[in-house]
Amino acid sequence: MDSAALKPCAHPAFGPLPRRLTRSVAIGGVQVGGGAPVVVQSMTNTDTADVNSTTKQVAELWRAGSEMVRVTVNTVEAAAAVPRIVDKLAMMGVEVPIIGDFHYNGHQLLAAEPACAEALAKYRINPGNVGFGKKKDTQFATLIEFAIRYGKPVRIGANWGSLDQALATRLMDENHLLPQPKEAAEVLREALIRSALDSAERAVELGLPADRIVLSAKVSGVQELIAVYRELARRGDYALHLGLTEAGIGSKGIVASSAALAVLLQEGIGDTIRISLTPEPGQARSNEVVVAQELLQTMGLRAFTPMVTACPGCGRTTSTFFQELAQRVQEHVRAKMPEWKVTHPGAENLTLAVMGCVVNGPGESRHANIGISLPGTGEAPSAPVFEDGEKTVTLRGDNIAGDFIGLIDAYVARRYGGHASAG
Ligand code: SF4
Repeated sequence: MDSAALKPCAHPAFGPLPRRLTRSVAIGGVQVGGGAPVVVQSMTNTDTADVNSTTKQVAELWRAGSEMVRVTVNTVEAAAAVPRIVDKLAMMGVEVPIIGDFHYNGHQLLAAEPACAEALAKYRINPGNVGFGKKKDTQFATLIEFAIRYGKPVRIGANWGSLDQALATRLMDENHLLPQPKEAAEVLREALIRSALDSAERAVELGLPADRIVLSAKVSGVQELIAVYRELARRGDYALHLGLTEAGIGSKGIVASSAALAVLLQEGIGDTIRISLTPEPGQARSNEVVVAQELLQTMGLRAFTPMVTACPGCGRTTSTFFQELAQRVQEHVRAKMPEWKVTHPGAENLTLAVMGCVVNGPGESRHANIGISLPGTGEAPSAPVFEDGEKTVTLRGDNIAGDFIGLIDAYVARRYGGHASAG
C-alpha cells in the first residue's frame, strides 16, 4: 500500500503513528483492521471437549483483556462442545468472540456440528493443513462455503511449520530453472506468502467477501517474520494478524515476540496480535495477554492499564523495599482497572514512577502523573511524592506503601472523576 493509505494513531508523547489502512473485518462485534485499534487475542490450551475447563480459561483470558479467544476444534467432541462453551460464557457475562482453529478435518466437523459453525465468530483455516493432493482444493472450498453460509469471517493462517508442501515444491522447481536461482530460504518465504495470498484470492473467487478475510503467515524467526509481513502488507490490503509462532518460554518468548512485532507495528503493519508464549510451569495462560497489552501500551498504540516506571535498583539501594513497592503498585492498578474502566474512564492512561534514590528519583517522578522517590543508602528516611511535575507531599514512617497507594487512588478520583475506594 502507498503512504496515502496510512492513518494516524495519536501517541500522547510523539504525535501520530502511522497505521496501514487495511480492510475492516467485523468479528463477533470486534472490528479488526480499517484503522481500528490493534486487537489483542489469545488461545486456550485446554481440551475444547472439556467444556468446564475451556470455559474457565476463556473467561480468564477475557478478564485479563483478551478481545478474541481461539480454541482448537479438532474432534467431533470438541466441535459439539463449542456451542455449549459459548452459551456458558454468555451466561457468565463474558462477551468475547470465540474463534475455531481447524486443521485437516474442519470441513467434516462443520458439517457434522452446524451449531458449532453457527456459534463460532470466525474460522481459522491453515491452507497447509486443509487436506492433501486433490482433496486440498475441495476441502478448502467446503470450509469457505461454510463461512459464506453462516456469514462468518475467516483467518487464512499459513504457518512455517505446516507450509503447503505442493506449493513449496512447485516454487522450488521453478526456481531451479532460473538462470540465477534464489536462495532456498527466500523461495520458501515466498511459498508461505503465496500460500496465504493465493488462498485468500481463491476464497474471494468462491464468493467470500474480501472484508471477511484476515491473513497471517507465521514463522518462528524474528527477521523472517518481519520480511514476510512487510511483503504481505505490500502486496494487499487484507487485515493482518501478527504473531511470532512458537516464540518460546519465559523471557526468550517475550523478547523475540516483542522484537518482531514492534518493528512491524511501528511501520503500521498489524491489525490483531497474539503473543505465542509457552507458559512456564504454574504460570497463568493469561500472561500472554498481559505481554500483548504491555507491548501495545509501551509503544503508545493503546492504553489498557496504568504503567509503572521503576528504576532497576543498584548499590545505592539497600533493601528490596522499592522493588516490592513497584510490584505492589503495578498489581494494585492492574487489579483496580476493571473497576476504574467503569468509574474512572481514562485512568488507563495514568503514568506512575517508583524510584530507588535521589539520583534519578525526583527527575523521573516529575515526568510521571504521580511518582515517588524512595530514600537510597545514606539518605534521610523520607520519600517525596510528585504529582504532574510538582512535589506535593513527603511520606515517612512504616506505611509509605499504603500511603502512596492511597495517593494514587485519590489522584485517579480527582483526575478522572468518580470516587476511588481506599487502597
Ligand atoms: S534511581 Fe538511584 S537506586 Fe535507582 S538505579 Fe538510579 S541510582 Fe540506582
